Amino acid sequence: MLELVDVGPRSLDAYRGVAPDAVLDDLRRVATDLRGARVLHVNATPYGGGVSELLRSGLPILNDLGLVAHWRIIRGDDRFFQVTKKIHNGLQGAADDLTEAEREAYLGTSRRNAELFAEDYDFVFLHDPQPAGMLSLRDRGTGRWIWRCHIDTAQPNPAVWAFLRPYLEPFDAAVFTMAEFVPPDFPVARVEIMPPAIDPLSPKNMPLAEDTARGVLQWIGVDLNRPLVSQISRFDPWKDPLGVIEAFRLARDQVPNLQLALVGSMALDDPEGWDVYRQVTEAARAASGVHVFTNLTGVGNIEVNAFQRLSQVAIQKSIREGFGLVVSEALWKGTPVVAGNAGGIPLQMADGVGGVLVESSDECAKALVALLRDPDHARELGRQGRARVREHFLLPRLLLNELELMQELAAGRPVVPAEDRDPVCGMAVSRDARTPEASFEHVVYRFCSNACRDQFLEDPAHYTAHTRVPAREGEVPRNVD
Ligand code: UDP
Repeated sequence: MLELVDVGPRSLDAYRGVAPDAVLDDLRRVATDLRGARVLHVNATPYGGGVSELLRSGLPILNDLGLVAHWRIIRGDDRFFQVTKKIHNGLQGAADDLTEAEREAYLGTSRRNAELFAEDYDFVFLHDPQPAGMLSLRDRGTGRWIWRCHIDTAQPNPAVWAFLRPYLEPFDAAVFTMAEFVPPDFPVARVEIMPPAIDPLSPKNMPLAEDTARGVLQWIGVDLNRPLVSQISRFDPWKDPLGVIEAFRLARDQVPNLQLALVGSMALDDPEGWDVYRQVTEAARAASGVHVFTNLTGVGNIEVNAFQRLSQVAIQKSIREGFGLVVSEALWKGTPVVAGNAGGIPLQMADGVGGVLVESSDECAKALVALLRDPDHARELGRQGRARVREHFLLPRLLLNELELMQELAAGRPVVPAEDRDPVCGMAVSRDARTPEASFEHVVYRFCSNACRDQFLEDPAHYTAHTRVPAREGEVPRNVD
């Protein structure tokens, strides 16, 4: 079994008054059709990076809407994640090709994960290249399979793309952040465009009183009497942390006392992070006024929230960027952003809203200085940015897009006969006399195990809301508890 990530319950109602009403209403309406549908999201890490942020926030809401949504992670060793990071980099255009041994490592781990993936779901979303190989290596079952690509694949390295492409062929649909990221010879006919979104109620984005935020940053050693700019991101060359330090040095010549905080998290599937971290700490030592923090030294969601709130300007100087959730996170707090003109970033800051797009360290430094010297203008940019995020980049909109896709995919094909599978785990079950059964509303359900049956009996309505099992005439319900 692939490891399950526990996300706990949360309610969509909490988003009333925060996200637009129309989106929340549509979401409830579309979800009615999908009640009971079993949805699985698979990625490579339960923490670190944008995908795990999205899943941690979104899955509880799908469950609240009556779907049965799970999040599982694949298993892989360092070697595998080195290869998948190379694939990730190659898809973003890096020159390195994969060696034969690396191709085999990807295939071998994908095969092992395909074997571990025994369950059956109505909809399976595989996020990014790490789990993508599994589908072609296992029985596709009865579900619909969706590849969710979060990467800027507009100009992939042709050799790396040629390697991954065949693994993607069997998918029913694919989702990209922007239309321009879809490679020209993409093998899946059904392609949807859905930008990611931030969760306005997560600890990272929830309202935080100014004195609390100040206390949090002072406690970790930030001097709030001095101007502060920050970049929050994984230690990744595409996020250009060294370019940020360079821009900071130029800006500090004109804004004495300026401080820079580089806050980076280490992700399980990003082994490159440590190398970049070492380079960053070395460069930081050579430039006074730079603080480097990581999740491993206790700088977590609340600290990120406080940094994004109290920085005069948030920086995201990416060279390539799938989306860059951090941009929306900072704008949501009304903080203006100076960011690389890359990938999904301009989408968030369209029409000059939210801050300044830059192409180099020099431009970055100039934009920082201009905003630090004109706080009224900076605040106005931040205010407009927040309004844009509210309209386009909050979680309920993303969930609505995903549910609409599932609804359309389900309509396109006959729905799985529900009589022959366990409504809890989704596995096919025989009609053998030893198969555990339970009845609910005169319909008999069968289970792979007593554990699933017991789970079902705790809340049968939840598991049967979407089921199409017909009550068989004359069937005497058994095991009615
Ligand atoms: N993040 C964090 N702590 C850090 C650095 C990053 O919590 O020290 C979070 C950040 O707030 C954002 C996510 O990690 O929610 C990064 O997502 P993004 O889309 O910006 O980049 P990715 O890492 O997916 O390339």
